[in-house]
Amino acid sequence: MRVSILASGSSGNITLLETERTRLLVDCGLGKRETLARLAAIEKNVEHIDGILITHEHTDHCNGLPQMLGLWKAPLYVTEPTMGALQRTLPETFGKRLKGVETIHAGQHFSIGDIEVHAFAIPHDAADPIGFTFRSNGAKMALVTDLGYMPELVKVHLKNSDCLMLESNHDLDMLKVGPYPWVVKQRVLSRTGHLSNHAVGEYLSDPDGFDAIARYLVLGHVSQENNNPYLVRISAEEALGRRSAECAFRGELLVASQDAPLRSLEL
Ligand SMILES: [Zn+2]
Ligand SMILES: [Zn+2]
Repeated sequence: MRVSILASGSSGNITLLETERTRLLVDCGLGKRETLARLAAIEKNVEHIDGILITHEHTDHCNGLPQMLGLWKAPLYVTEPTMGALQRTLPETFGKRLKGVETIHAGQHFSIGDIEVHAFAIPHDAADPIGFTFRSNGAKMALVTDLGYMPELVKVHLKNSDCLMLESNHDLDMLKVGPYPWVVKQRVLSRTGHLSNHAVGEYLSDPDGFDAIARYLVLGHVSQENNNPYLVRISAEEALGRRSAECAFRGELLVASQDAPLRSLEL
């Protein structure tokens, strides 16, 4: 399985997952031109997509969906509440370009080609937000962004991942003194907002939470106002450094960017 995170952050999220037989997109938060430019940047020419999965209806995850449906005519995998929200918020072209909708729900396992997908609920202020794990050819990838805290059940789903993509959205101090209005700060900090570097650190340092099996640990959805990639990395490295030698993390720590695709990761 190959994972290409094309963009991650509050201005657009999109990830490509590939095996020899199957290609999936998770979220469509960039327009057609930018998506194609990023695919070209990592030397990918994608002619066919087997499925588009949407985590939740916030614009940074679905803005480009009508264009992507026009481009690839792929079936859409969404939960019913998210589909309702998409129909309310996206332009009419969305409905016109739909080529088929597979209704999924949190807790469900399903297959698309040779990729086995598991969807699970995450705490976020959207209609029915979900995270995913993907399994193929013995490899496992987990993708979880946009969540206010790490529920125990989510930690269980993330175990045994060869690649873990997790949100590290904001630095608590930067958020507190930053430019956001108070209500927005409250929203980000809430149990249905976003994970802070600190919350990620608590998870990464705890051997009962993070099992450190991952070959690639990717931190993403990094706020451009209230965080920066260096802080994300320093905070995560400090947290991983708190683990004892016998359960040390020996994989690679990466920070996904809003502005450029991450190199493709081979699992
Ligand atoms: Zn988001
Ligand atoms: Zn969101």
